[in-house]
Amino acid sequence: MEYRRTQAGNNVLILEKLTFRPNVARTIRTGAPRPESRTPIHFHDGTPTPMSFLQNLPGLFTSDMAIDLGTANTLVYVKGRGVILSEPSVVAYHVKDGVKKVLAVGEDAKLMLGRTPGSIEAIRPMREGVIADFDTAEAMIKYFIRKVHKRTTFSKPKIIVCVPHGATPVEKRAIRQSVLSAGARRAGLIAEPIAAAIGAGMPITDPTGSMVVDIGGGTTEVAVLSLGDIVYARSVRVGGDRMDEGIISYLRRQQNLLVGDSTAERIKTSIGTARMPDDGRGSSMQIRGRDLLNGVPKETEISQAQVAEALAEPVQQICEAVMTALEATPPDLAADIVDRGVMLTGGGALLGDLDLALREQTGLAVSIADESLNCVALGTGKALEYEKQLRHAIDYDS
Ligand code: ADP
Ligand code: MG
Repeated sequence: MEYRRTQAGNNVLILEKLTFRPNVARTIRTGAPRPESRTPIHFHDGTPTPMSFLQNLPGLFTSDMAIDLGTANTLVYVKGRGVILSEPSVVAYHVKDGVKKVLAVGEDAKLMLGRTPGSIEAIRPMREGVIADFDTAEAMIKYFIRKVHKRTTFSKPKIIVCVPHGATPVEKRAIRQSVLSAGARRAGLIAEPIAAAIGAGMPITDPTGSMVVDIGGGTTEVAVLSLGDIVYARSVRVGGDRMDEGIISYLRRQQNLLVGDSTAERIKTSIGTARMPDDGRGSSMQIRGRDLLNGVPKETEISQAQVAEALAEPVQQICEAVMTALEATPPDLAADIVDRGVMLTGGGALLGDLDLALREQTGLAVSIADESLNCVALGTGKALEYEKQLRHAIDYDS
């Protein structure tokens, strides 16, 4: 049965209270804790215990969800099951006589970005962490909810969505409204840095300072947390997209080569690095684009050193955001951060040597969260599972 299989796959994980010691954070894999357990939960491995099916029975009747509505990727966590959907935040429309019809959502739609004929439009509804195109965002949320909402469930789900710390009341209302009209019974909001820190296993409820840096597609959010709440948070409009743009403009300037967004992203994820390689060149890859001098397709090579140069500006801006946060942090909390270091989450945290570059600039220890792309969704999911303890962080009313 599909449900049981998923359980076996996801239960690798574990919640050891809501707080984790930073030195164990890397070893913690998050899956769905058993819904009604009260004491700390330990699953030893992926093997379901004889009781696990019964203990997860409530999951058959509710499919409450947590959604990470990211600029680049949308993830859905279903209570009792873990993260079961992760797709690009992209919608493709077929446009005929001014009427738009959804053609594809997620992975299929992303493949169309930059390759559409006149009659098809591929849109990313989220920009800089907030909804830029409401109708498209709603269509996308609806599609993803339908995809994971099992027919066997009877009630409309309760849904918790994370929102950037800097979202305005109007933006928050818009996100809540989109989720409600996509079929939610209740819609709660949680601040993204809190979700990221929970997902990364940081001890956020302790009276100690924790710094989390979430590097997404459109923004980087730097936050200092203590006692379960945000002490300082700042969002800068630099993230994976800016890195891609950096590569595109570098190639245009230096090699008269025009490449598209998806090629730039592929370069970044394959050989991207935040630091000049020690040998001054590093590895390299073949790329294709259009020669700007004669307009014909051209194949060439790009090295890691060139990519490091192309990414220098966005990397510098991320480092500066961390430095600014440290300067604004009360001294005792800053001292905690010196002790515990900084945690990186989000897809941008996977950029090669970004942790090293940050360590060199700030002098702090820097760790990359396990499953950094899933962190925010896992943290929002844990907030859903442990709602009672995290009540203060979830907002159902604004
Ligand atoms: P968001 O929360 O805004 O949706 P994510 O946290 O999902 O963003 O991260 C997506 C970004 O991470 C994209 O810009 C993607 O290109 C980038 N990314 C993913 N993997 C890597 C990698 N290995 N190296 C560098 N960037 C990466
Ligand atoms: Mg994100």
